[in-house]
Amino acid sequence: METSEVVIVGAGVAGLLAAYEVLRRRPGTTLTLIEAGLPLEERLRQATPTSEGYGGAGLFLGGSLYFGTTTLPVMPPVSAPPEVRPVVAGDAFERQARRVDALFTELGATAPWRPAPAEPLANAIEQARLAGIDYITNYPARRLTADERQGALRRLYTLLTEHGARQLMGAQVTQIVNAGNGYVVTFIPTSGKQDAPRETSQPQRIHTRAVLLAPGRYGAEWLTRIAGGLGARIIPLPTTYGVRMELPAMTYDPLTDVNPDPRLQMSLGDDALIKTYATCPGGVVTPVTRYGALVASGVPALKREQRGPTTTMALLIQPGAEGAAGTWHGGEESARLLNERAPGKLIVQRMEDVRQRRPTDAEALAQNSVRPSCADAIPGALYDAYPDAYWRACETFLGRINQMAPGVLSDDALVYGPAEERFNYFSTDDHMQTTTPGLFVAGDGPGQSQGIIQASIAGLLAGEGLASYLFNAR
Ligand SMILES: Cc1cc2nc3c(=O)[nH]c(=O)nc-3n(C[C@H](O)[C@H](O)[C@H](O)COP(=O)(O)OP(=O)(O)OC[C@H]3O[C@@H](n4cnc5c(N)ncnc54)[C@H](O)[C@@H]3O)c2cc1C
Repeated sequence: METSEVVIVGAGVAGLLAAYEVLRRRPGTTLTLIEAGLPLEERLRQATPTSEGYGGAGLFLGGSLYFGTTTLPVMPPVSAPPEVRPVVAGDAFERQARRVDALFTELGATAPWRPAPAEPLANAIEQARLAGIDYITNYPARRLTADERQGALRRLYTLLTEHGARQLMGAQVTQIVNAGNGYVVTFIPTSGKQDAPRETSQPQRIHTRAVLLAPGRYGAEWLTRIAGGLGARIIPLPTTYGVRMELPAMTYDPLTDVNPDPRLQMSLGDDALIKTYATCPGGVVTPVTRYGALVASGVPALKREQRGPTTTMALLIQPGAEGAAGTWHGGEESARLLNERAPGKLIVQRMEDVRQRRPTDAEALAQNSVRPSCADAIPGALYDAYPDAYWRACETFLGRINQMAPGVLSDDALVYGPAEERFNYFSTDDHMQTTTPGLFVAGDGPGQSQGIIQASIAGLLAGEGLASYLFNAR
């Protein structure tokens, strides 16, 4: 069996910067970086870009660097279980963010600092404030152009290769088992494309002393299973739940013309907030299976000219630990109930029928002015599957958004259910090592980050932790 002192799973920004830091601190380390998606140059030739591959999601697809001070991991703005604590916060976060900024500059980024949002966004934030809504942004920022992002990724690739890293693309890690003095990592070579069959050849194995799992948000479920199986302490946070709404794109344009994914939120009583999540202007609703439930997700149009007639965004309640045990209890059961009601399908309902507390039938849906983008969804009842407090919160929240985007309160708006997001807290030391020695986690997958800067900091810290773990374990 091949050996490698370190294996890093995922070539998103967290995995890449961890590899960079291990090799900077401990030159000569044998390091294997394994990525399920395509190599950079092949990604660049793809007609429809995906969030998998060299550079991962945000660094390849987005490239806005937000430097506003926050924490690592992201601390929920509602009550958290007692053990949840930030590993990096305040001045320490700012110092790490400056380090990441300098690194991107070294990698060729020239985009200027923007201390505050440009006028249209600043106006939208003010309008939201006047309506009683928080508009979440995180300035100062730098917006890397596509050339800067690709240049930085090419330089990283060259740098890692020059320092001896083995970078395997189109290789999906499927299993990791404890092997006494380390781990055995199993991976399957794949085509690297999302829509192609996964298992195209025989599994391969590498023995390693230490492993970093950085599989991004879409790998969170896999990560929880693998790390949990290896004994890492993982604390589930209360489920964030609700519905996915669909409106005429024109109605939401006043918001999405300024920012394609406006993050709006409003505090509720009893330890919860309601928020918009993953807005897809001109996008479509699609069912996906997560954590064993079929839930409504949104697929954005990649280019403005590809936008369809509707915009969709999730309307989610995020309860804190106390809220989830009180007023906001039971939301996570909605997914199970709705999946039982319509096996293998999403349920779609007109907002008028939600308000009238009656199911939507096929005839009413056929006559509705907003056409469902998910043709497969079944008209039915969502109104009775969520706590009454959820719908009251939706009405208040939508009423306020309506001040910024008139028409949001339309009775013809559609809602799909269930929708939910689950996050976990991974108990780690200050260098992202879990409670299982030699097993590190970093980035969006373990819920530490929600953006490039945070994920980069997590990667650098994990790299530092891996280097000292190898040193101490000699
Ligand atoms: C469309 C889009 C645009 C975004 N734009 C921005 C932005 O402009 N600014 C910002 O701050 N944030 C942005 N984000 C958020 C940002 O993407 C993330 O915060 C950041 O990418 C997290 O980095 P990561 O390394 O944790 O994960 P990712 O970047 O998601 O990378 C994880 C990688 O792991 C690989 N992987 C997963 N499982 C396996 C496995 N089993 N075996 C092998 N490989 C595996 C995946 O293929 C993927 O390439 C955006 C997100 C999306 C989806």
